[in-house]
Amino acid sequence: MHPREQTIFALSSGRPPSAIAVVRVSGALAGTALAKIAGMIPPARLAKRVMLRDQIGEVIDDAVVLWFAGPASATGEDVAEFHVHGGRAVLNTLFAALASMDNVRAAEPGEFTRRAFENGKIDLTEAEGLDDLIHADTDRQRRQALRQLQGLLGDRAREWRRQLIEASALIEAGIDFAEEGDVPEDLVTPAMEKIARLRHEIEKTLAASAQSERLRDGLTVAIAGPPNAGKSTLLNRLARREAAIVSPYAGTTRDIIEVHLDLDGYPITLIDTAGIRDTDDPVEREGVRRAQERAASADLVLWLADDDGEGARLPRPFGEGGVPVWRVRNKVDLSGLETDGAKPGHLEATCGQGAPTKHFRISAALGDGVEELVAALTKFAGEWFGSGEMAAVTRLRHRNILREAAASLAKTERLVGQGDELVAEQLRISVELMGRLLGRVDIDNILDSLFKDFCIGK
Ligand code: GDP
Repeated sequence: MHPREQTIFALSSGRPPSAIAVVRVSGALAGTALAKIAGMIPPARLAKRVMLRDQIGEVIDDAVVLWFAGPASATGEDVAEFHVHGGRAVLNTLFAALASMDNVRAAEPGEFTRRAFENGKIDLTEAEGLDDLIHADTDRQRRQALRQLQGLLGDRAREWRRQLIEASALIEAGIDFAEEGDVPEDLVTPAMEKIARLRHEIEKTLAASAQSERLRDGLTVAIAGPPNAGKSTLLNRLARREAAIVSPYAGTTRDIIEVHLDLDGYPITLIDTAGIRDTDDPVEREGVRRAQERAASADLVLWLADDDGEGARLPRPFGEGGVPVWRVRNKVDLSGLETDGAKPGHLEATCGQGAPTKHFRISAALGDGVEELVAALTKFAGEWFGSGEMAAVTRLRHRNILREAAASLAKTERLVGQGDELVAEQLRISVELMGRLLGRVDIDNILDSLFKDFCIGK
């Protein structure tokens, strides 16, 4: 039997041990499995308490089972659910009992979702939303994924496709209608109006999506500065854990260390760069090169220097290319605050050429001024991400297709007057692109890459 036709099972709830665990079985043999192990098949969608037994009649667990006859199930196939006690021994015995049956096997990651998709239970944008949801780290990412799962983008794409088909039908009707000569104006004009409106809408959605994609990836903040400025100490304090090695010797943080933070629901990646300085050590030089590269592509640079002004000058490539650089003077505990009367924390922002600069004075070691820095970072993240509420085009695949579709529609508009067959053909291409967004055509290659990212049991 082809693996796609086999019956699959997986733990669909969290990692054991847990109070209750849900094991799902999907496929033609789900009913047989249920009858064998639970001794009966309950009416569809009604919970039934039963004693589960393995292949030699030994009791597995006192459990609750559910039966969903296909196609009215999550996957569209026959589905059985076993709600058992979530101990490893119980689960292992149940898995063994299931696996002992011919053509019943453990599911691959994402296989349940894939079957749901293949049976028309969800479309591709919904499947991708589910994938994002499973992998969402922060609350905002989760909400974004939920919106996509609810089919916001899918709904919109379906509507666009419908309108495109309408426009296309108008043109095609015209071609049939006017056997020779041109399609009558009163068919072309409304079709082209529709197309112009559609293109505008797609472009608007695309513009909003750049920000949405950022939400998926998160904001990158590089902590840079001369060796011993206290970068690792600051990173540790921000991450509130021992992520980087703090050492009193210069140049010990040779590599780049990343820490992922959740600041008020915003996903932030903090990068601690190696001490950026001239060096003859080839290993260290490589570290310096990578640090410069990574910091240069960050969305915000925190430039750390000793409070006495040592290393305060900003080297290249920072401060170029419009990336904001905040200057953070560290070790205020050493330089004595009383002398200049300045308090740690945020100093006034100065606006030089290029990106605005903010100044902070902190003690990474003692924590003075760090709260202000975190507050400013959170505010920066909030502005950077924008509200993040409206757009739903979080995947590169969607954006690429939408870009192609917008270009295809623009081309359609340009073709008007050059032959209606050409216009009709270009429209067919646009319709197909929309279909691809929804996963109706040309999907096998994207399916494989999408579903292998899923957790087993989804
Ligand atoms: P990096 O090379 O920039 O990552 O610097 P580290 O974080 O390794 O710190 C270098 C040294 O400075 C260590 O001995 C730290 O304990 C010390 N240090 C870091 N921040 C402060 C601070 O705010 N005050 C004082 N007194 N020492 C600090």
